Amino acid sequence: MIRWTQALLNTLREAPQDAEIVSHKLMIRAGMMRKLGGGLYTYMPLGFRALRKIEAIIREEMERAGAQETLFPILQPAELWKQSGRWETMGNGMFRVRDRKEAWYVLTPTAEEAFTALAKNEIASYRQLPCIIYQMQDKFRDEIRPRFGLIRGKEFIMKDAYSFDADDAGADRSYRAMYDAYVRIFKRVGLAVKPVEADTGDIGGNFSHEFMVFAASGEDGILNCEACGYAANQERAERQESASEFGGKDDAIVRVATPGKHSCEEVAAFLEKPLTQVVKSLVVLADGDPIMVLVPGDRELNELKLRRVLGGAKIEPADETTVVRVAGPCGSIGPVGVEIPVYADQSLKGAADVIVGANAEGVHLLHVSLARDAHITSYEDLVIVAQGDACPHCGKPLGLCRGTEVGQCFKLGQKYSKAFGATFLDETGAPRLLTMGCYGIGVSRTLQAIVEQNNDENGIMWPASVAPYQVALLLLDPDNAEVTAKAEALAADLEARGIDVFMDDRAERPGVKFKDADLIGLPVRVVAGAKGLSKGGFEIRRRTEKESVIVSPEQAAETIAQWLK
Ligand code: ATP
Ligand code: MG
Repeated sequence: MIRWTQALLNTLREAPQDAEIVSHKLMIRAGMMRKLGGGLYTYMPLGFRALRKIEAIIREEMERAGAQETLFPILQPAELWKQSGRWETMGNGMFRVRDRKEAWYVLTPTAEEAFTALAKNEIASYRQLPCIIYQMQDKFRDEIRPRFGLIRGKEFIMKDAYSFDADDAGADRSYRAMYDAYVRIFKRVGLAVKPVEADTGDIGGNFSHEFMVFAASGEDGILNCEACGYAANQERAERQESASEFGGKDDAIVRVATPGKHSCEEVAAFLEKPLTQVVKSLVVLADGDPIMVLVPGDRELNELKLRRVLGGAKIEPADETTVVRVAGPCGSIGPVGVEIPVYADQSLKGAADVIVGANAEGVHLLHVSLARDAHITSYEDLVIVAQGDACPHCGKPLGLCRGTEVGQCFKLGQKYSKAFGATFLDETGAPRLLTMGCYGIGVSRTLQAIVEQNNDENGIMWPASVAPYQVALLLLDPDNAEVTAKAEALAADLEARGIDVFMDDRAERPGVKFKDADLIGLPVRVVAGAKGLSKGGFEIRRRTEKESVIVSPEQAAETIAQWLK
């Protein structure tokens, strides 16, 4: 038990200016954390207890899934990162520091390199597989926009696990074990999450799920099928292939003047044609070489999909000189007659009678048939899927909502084991590359996400499993010896049952104590006052309910224990 008069705890009436979302406001107002600098927060005693409880649940579930805990240095030699190539590809997102001998180090943003290097030395034989190891540790990222408190920090706590297997089938089993552990973890900490299919980004690899919490402030778009349960990050989401609506006609090409009309919208409006009939042509650089990409006029290119189609090539916008050289003046370009590779969205397969730029200033072409008039290198899935598109599994319309990622599972394959030469000897004594997976949970982000999901207008509503304390015991008359004795006895009884008690023993008015209790949001509130006790007992209330009940001092501990079960 802790008493408020001994605790370092200050609640605030007002939220700080930079707190935009409710959980950030409440974490500060309820005294759970304090800001040290942009994207940097100190966990105060109450917030730290909640964090510790989340960590304990994660540890239990990791161990249950057969993973063992380790702890790596946060400061890592640059050489490790050069070996994987991420010293270059991580760019400004990574904090780099130098020691007195001018040797470079990284403040670890994630730890595939260090774990793979360890596995290379420690795992020699198939007999040591499968192997899953993890750590719970601070990570550092120089985020472009740190914000929302613990949701996007420069320093944050991550649980990161790595699996090593002999082959793909083994890696699938490890992936499944981690996925299932994640489902249990988020359920136990009281957070509703949705696993969605995800892109593999900078980490690399070929298969991934993100565990998302739905939130209006979320920075990720999620496409969701209510009919069959398909869900995917917008970066990754697919749609059912729909053939072009514009096919069949084989009229000859007609050149039309479209003076000053550059965007697809302007061209469509000027020619009085539907926007979907205009094909958007883009020139981009793929690993430095120009290529053309075609998508329907009402669609946006998904660069991550293009990158995947091109085997992970770096995609950049082309400069104007290049566009003019390989196609024509910007705003009037098209695929007819160009000599660079042209990739078209799959929905343009069979497209005829479409409108494209003529590669001449202020001119467009009508009645273009892509198959007849252009050289299409290949048709691929290249567009950002939007609300209302057909679900790739069942064809029903997809919904779009916003979300924040609290965890992610990746199948890495052999990307890192190859870079580090991490092999083991199989049953026949032949060396083979380890097959890997990696699995992250944003522990500090999860803490705040729980608050984002569990609150009302008066404050936080902690799920019992992670609440800093389970019971707020409000001692209304701290000067009254009899009331104090009864409250102390109840606290002792609760503690003996393993229930943590936070006693508000301040010399404050009852109204102040009630307000603070709601703000801090412990699951059960007990009021111990002379008036109530003379009427029959303690007044107890769940944080999630309006009504309180009076229970006798003899019954109180038992009732509370039942509630918290
Ligand atoms: P995001 O897309 O939100 O930037 P990410 O995909 O870059 O996250 P991962 O590399 O998958 O993140 O890291 C694993 C987990 O760490 C994430 O699921 C997330 O919960 C957490 N995390 C990542 N970046 C931050 C951050 N800046 N602050 C707090 N938690 C973070
Ligand atoms: Mg991620």
